[in-house]
Amino acid sequence: MDLCQSTIHQAAELLRRREVSSVELTRAVLDRIEKVDSRVRAFVTITEDMALEQAKEADRRISDGTAALLTGIPAAIKDNMCTRGIRTTCSSRMLENFVPPYDATVVERLHAAGMVMVGKTNMDEFAMGSSNEHSAFFPTYNPWDLSRVPGGSSGGSAVSVATDATIYAIGSDTGGSIRQPAGFCSVVGLKPTYGRVSRYGLVAFASSLDQIGPLTKDVTDCALVMNVIAGHDSRDSTSLPYPVPDYTESLVPDLKGVRLGVPKEYFVEGMQPEVAQAIRSATVVLEELGATVDWDVSLPHTRYGLAAYYIIAPSEASANLARYDGVKYGFSVKEAENMWDAMEKTKGNGFGPEVKRRIMLGTYALSAGYYDAYYLKALRVRTLIRREFEEALKTVDALVTPTSPTVPFKIGEKLDDPIQMYLSDVCTLPINIAGVPGISVPAGFADGLPIGMQIIGRPLGEEVLLRVAYAYEQATDWHKRKPPL
Ligand code: GLN
Repeated sequence: MDLCQSTIHQAAELLRRREVSSVELTRAVLDRIEKVDSRVRAFVTITEDMALEQAKEADRRISDGTAALLTGIPAAIKDNMCTRGIRTTCSSRMLENFVPPYDATVVERLHAAGMVMVGKTNMDEFAMGSSNEHSAFFPTYNPWDLSRVPGGSSGGSAVSVATDATIYAIGSDTGGSIRQPAGFCSVVGLKPTYGRVSRYGLVAFASSLDQIGPLTKDVTDCALVMNVIAGHDSRDSTSLPYPVPDYTESLVPDLKGVRLGVPKEYFVEGMQPEVAQAIRSATVVLEELGATVDWDVSLPHTRYGLAAYYIIAPSEASANLARYDGVKYGFSVKEAENMWDAMEKTKGNGFGPEVKRRIMLGTYALSAGYYDAYYLKALRVRTLIRREFEEALKTVDALVTPTSPTVPFKIGEKLDDPIQMYLSDVCTLPINIAGVPGISVPAGFADGLPIGMQIIGRPLGEEVLLRVAYAYEQATDWHKRKPPL
C-alpha cells in the first residue's frame, strides 16, 4: 500500500512505531497532490513549505513523547475556514487575497493536536452550491469520472480524501455540503449536531444552519477527528456546553438492540432506481447486523424542507454577506464616483452569479411587506420539521435514507437550472433545518459511480450514527474501492 493511502489510524500506528516519519508521510501526500491535482483540481492553495515545517515539528513531538493521535497527520481544510497567515478565499473573487489574522477554532484545535496542513480546498463560492461549479476560480472534478461533478460545496475536501491527496479533510455543511460530496466521492462525511463543533472562524453563509465536520476514508477516522474538533467554545455563542464523549467507544461491529427507521418521504419522485435499490440492500445488511428496521416512519413535512431552506438560507446569507462592502477587507473597487457607486461596483464584480441570486432572494424575503409571508412562514415550517424529527426519533434510534437522489451528475448539466441543482439536496437539507446530526457513508455504485447512505440521529446522537456507520462499514467493502485515477 502507498503511504498516502493510509487512514488516520493506520498512519498514526506507523508513526507511533517509528516505521515512518511525519516528514515521509507528508512527502508522500504532497507527491500525490502533485500527481493528481492537475486533473481533479481539489486545492485552491497548497501549503507545501508550511506542511513540511509542521511535519518536522510533529516528528520532534513524536520523539519526545508529547504527540497526540493526530500529530503528524496531513489534513486539508475547506477554504472557508480562517487560517492565520494563509489565504482564505471562500473560492470567491471577493476574498481572493484575504489573509486572516487568526485561526478558526477548529483549525486551532487541530494545530494543537499536531495537524500537518497540506492546503485549502476548493468549494462553491461562499459554500453556495452542490457541484463546485460555482467556485470563482475553477471547478473540481469527480475522480470516479472526470466529466462529472464531485458534489458541493465541500467538493474539494471530498475529492482530496477520495484521491489520497490528504489523509483527512474538514468541510462545512449548511444544507448538505459535507454529506452530498462525501456520497458523490465515496468517502465518509459527518455533519454534527448544530452547535457541537464551533463555528468561530468559519466564514458565515447561513449562521443558523452552518456546521463544520470531518470528511474521512473510514468511520474510525471520522470518530478520531470528532474527538478533537467537537466541544464547547466560548467564542461561538451557539456552541453547546456539553462534554464530548470518546467517539471511538461507539465503534462496535454489531447493531443488537438498535432500532432504525426508513422514512418513506426520502424515496422522492425522480430518484434514480439504483440509488433506492442500494439503500434497500443496505437495510438488509443492517438487519443482519442485529438492527430492526421500521419502514413505516413518516416525515410528511419533508416536502416543504427545500422551500423553507431556500428562504431561510438566502435570508441569512443576505445579512451575512452585507459586510463585503469593499471597506474593511476583501475586494474593493476604488475608481468610483461616490460611496454607493463604489459599493455597487465592488459587489457587482466581487460576487459570482449564484451568490448574487441568493442575496437578492434573501433581501426580497426579508423586505417589509414580504417578511411575514416568506421568512416568518419558513420559520414556522422549520418548527414543524424539527418537531417531526423529534417525534420520529422517539420510536427509533436513527433514520436511514439515501444521501442524494442520484449518482454524480455531469459537469454543466444543472448549471442553467438552479431548481434542479437545489433538488440534489432534498435528502440532506431537512437535517440542517432540524439541527440534528447526519452522516454519509459509501453504500454502493451504479455504473462505477458512488452512492451514499445517510444516517440521521437525535440531537447529540453522533455516537449512534457512528455505531451504525461503523457496523455497516465492517460488513461491506465499498469504502475500500479507489477511483481509477
Ligand atoms: N447546496 C446547498 C446550497 O446551495 C447547501 C450548501 C451547503 O451546505 N453549504 O445552499
